[in-house]
Amino acid sequence: MNIFNMTALQLGEKINKREIGVLEAVKEAVKYIKDTDKKYNAFITVCEEEALGRAEDVQKKINEGKLNGPLAGVPMAVKDNICTSGIKTTCASKMLENFIPAYNAEAIERLYNAGAILLGKLNMDEFAMGSTSETSFFGAVKNPEDTGRSPGGSSGGPAAAVASNEIWYSLGSDTGGSIRQPCSFTGTTGIKPTYGRVSRYGLIAYASSFDQIGPIAKNVSDCAAVLNVISGYDEKDGTSSKSEKGDFLKNLVYGVENMKIGIPREYFEESMDQEVKDAVLNAAKQFEIMGARVEEFSLEAVKYAVPAYYIIASAEASSNLSRYDGIKYGYRAENCKNISELYERSRTDGFGEEVKRRIMLGNFVLSSGYYDAYYNKALRVRNIIKRSFDKAFEKYDIILSPTAPETALKLGESLSDPVKMYSGDIFTVSANLTGLPGMTLPCGRDTAGLPIGLQLIGPAWKESNLIRAGYTFESWSGYREAKR
Ligand code: GLN
Repeated sequence: MNIFNMTALQLGEKINKREIGVLEAVKEAVKYIKDTDKKYNAFITVCEEEALGRAEDVQKKINEGKLNGPLAGVPMAVKDNICTSGIKTTCASKMLENFIPAYNAEAIERLYNAGAILLGKLNMDEFAMGSTSETSFFGAVKNPEDTGRSPGGSSGGPAAAVASNEIWYSLGSDTGGSIRQPCSFTGTTGIKPTYGRVSRYGLIAYASSFDQIGPIAKNVSDCAAVLNVISGYDEKDGTSSKSEKGDFLKNLVYGVENMKIGIPREYFEESMDQEVKDAVLNAAKQFEIMGARVEEFSLEAVKYAVPAYYIIASAEASSNLSRYDGIKYGYRAENCKNISELYERSRTDGFGEEVKRRIMLGNFVLSSGYYDAYYNKALRVRNIIKRSFDKAFEKYDIILSPTAPETALKLGESLSDPVKMYSGDIFTVSANLTGLPGMTLPCGRDTAGLPIGLQLIGPAWKESNLIRAGYTFESWSGYREAKR
């Protein structure tokens, strides 16, 4: 039985019926990772010992009938900015190269309670800043679809580990598209939940008013199952919502007959690959054939989304990252003469170029002379964008767009031109500016054979719309069986 071709829910079912042992699955998976990850560099840490220990424990609970959830015993891994007690959590930075948290992120705690087996920590852009997973202190992640290309970023490791079948699902984080864009580049499926649905407790902060943890998996059903486990109110996160938790597996229903889908005209005026455009418009047509009402509409405010996002995200990042001062924890420069030199050298050596660029940009837009001109203005733009989306959702159940203007980029292609890299986030950042849920799933391939991602955005707390529409589309497209 080849367990690697199974989805997480399929493997979970076999484990539940005791046709496959948890220990056996974990051992096979660890061996596979050790053999193949040299090619992809998706893992920063493989925690074999912890995983084997947990596997025995989970198997015992399954045997005793104490654990019977759909993901019990299924191996997974998480982005290395999600804290794991006793296991290194580096944020792919020299600054946190040897940081071992004393506690688990809430999402990890919930997954453990559901019987998940953590196999390791996944590579990413340093502090989740980037779109290609090339800014990692531990080297670039390679796309399993084509190892000369980037798997996207910043959750490149979580996407590559799923796309290569090294694991059955992963957790990523999405501040401006970092779950959705890597899914688009690797042919995987992911959800950025509504802001406040998944606790940020234990997620190392990049830009706190945007950050959300979410699942990356082989298909919509697996994403729904993972989201079920990780979502829900948590008093340890001040922005966690008490809104109803829901059961997303109930939204795996075929049919979009009563759905109204809007396509923002402005998105298609942006420069993008013709093949991406064709595949996404084709997907829209397919939704129409399946019975949805699809129409174009104007969403002018999105033109300002990228600058507003980069101003606010950098401002928040500069504040969040001020805690890395070489004193409390993390990298500390040696042989410093005084405290100022200690701060300066620890931060200069501990952070990479892109992180430093964001800190400088953030400090600039927050400085007294420029606060109103940039930061305050960006906040106002954020509000305008939010209102335009709210208005659109009075009419539509879903907004459909590409996830990224291009398919997977060649490694090294975008690092030299940060502004070009930032503009590639045009389709994803609005969901973070507004807090809305977004999903990416594959909708085709270009002539080079690279996957193309389709993005669905829903009204706040309506992940149900995305899951239902995504499930229906996927049942038609068959992409969940896509060759990897
Ligand atoms: N590419 C975006 C950035 O660099 C998004 C990153 C993210 O979502 N973590 O900020």
